[in-house]
Amino acid sequence: MTSQNKVKRLLAPEDELDWLGNVLIRSDLNVPISNGNVLDNFRIKKSIEYIEDLQNISTSITFTSHLGRPAGFENSLSLKPISDEMSKLLNQDVVFIKNNLDKEIINILKTKKKGIFLLENLRFNEGEINNDEKFAKGVAKPFDTYILDAFGACHREHASIVKIGNHLNSFQGPLMSKEIEELDKVLNVSNEDFTIILGGAKVSDKLALIKNLLPRVNSLLIGGGMCFTFLKALGHNIGNSLCEEEFIESAKEILDSTDGKKITLPVDFGVTKAIESHARNNIELSQFSDDDIGVDIGKETIKKFQEILSKSKTIFWNGPMGVFEVDEFSHGTKEITNAIAEMEAYSIVGGGDSVNAINKFSSTDKFNHVSTGGGASLEYLEGKSLPGVNIYNQLII
Ligand code: AMP
Repeated sequence: MTSQNKVKRLLAPEDELDWLGNVLIRSDLNVPISNGNVLDNFRIKKSIEYIEDLQNISTSITFTSHLGRPAGFENSLSLKPISDEMSKLLNQDVVFIKNNLDKEIINILKTKKKGIFLLENLRFNEGEINNDEKFAKGVAKPFDTYILDAFGACHREHASIVKIGNHLNSFQGPLMSKEIEELDKVLNVSNEDFTIILGGAKVSDKLALIKNLLPRVNSLLIGGGMCFTFLKALGHNIGNSLCEEEFIESAKEILDSTDGKKITLPVDFGVTKAIESHARNNIELSQFSDDDIGVDIGKETIKKFQEILSKSKTIFWNGPMGVFEVDEFSHGTKEITNAIAEMEAYSIVGGGDSVNAINKFSSTDKFNHVSTGGGASLEYLEGKSLPGVNIYNQLII
């Protein structure tokens, strides 16, 4: 093996590795695709950020990822459109390999040598989800080095997360290390100046996170559909707004645990009779009729949230403030996105829909960290130890 640039492993800085050979990278390229077109390439862009440095120290680079939850082969969940998008972004050919089986890859790697490759959807093979040893060994066979860089999937006990790496010289990738570093900031920040702002549809997804983080924050602001379960727990009439009845009790416990301090709920709303219909703005709860659906936060709430956010030094935001996909109901999300973007505070954003909102109303570079993590970020912030986190030394290039 030739000695080129040096790669250092964080846990053993004195130990230097010269050449990575044929590299297999497990990325999270699970992005929305419609009619063969990638609708949002944020995760792809983040996954290829360090590829030039990697090319300097490896023979070939092969990406692998899951997409969606296929039951066997499904054409609509093929990674082919992603290899096209990667080729565009990198301005070089990313060779798509339809078959994850080692023989084909060995042949391709032998003949093309210094290329960039993308394997077909890992989950087309049931060995991936079943965490099958034989499958893991087969995928690993043509390669020398494994880089686990799929933070968004590292909460899964799947072969590509916990098994393939056992057969190769394995590292934790730079994107994944960055995600962990940023989320650790959320877990360790001092509470006097820390605000969390949560929204989105489901309160059930975020209860564990709230329980884990509430003692560490100064303020928790709750908007989106999830605020209505809390408002109902306080005895308000929420009309026909989204509510998870079975979690009203948990919401009440959370509210009681802070004696009415720390948590701020909306006081006015954008309201409609049906999602397809028009909005009435700045409606207070006392004005809700039984068929009203709260779909956005109102003017007073935006002002109140902005005031609290402006006093914070660190902000963690997850989930839109309303049904922001519909222009008429997007005002609150837009205002909050832009307010955080302009603030001095250190801002960390998690969750797919908040990222979509940023892309719609602002720009990801106005935030200190925008997570690619989705469900995995939430589980990490719940305090869970995730199967794929910190199992390998960090790759630092
Ligand atoms: P989540 O995946 O839980 O973060 O939810 C994101 C979704 O929440 C988005 O598609 C929003 O349209 C939706 N959402 C936000 N606010 C509301 C609301 N007040 N009522 C219904 N859905 C909402």
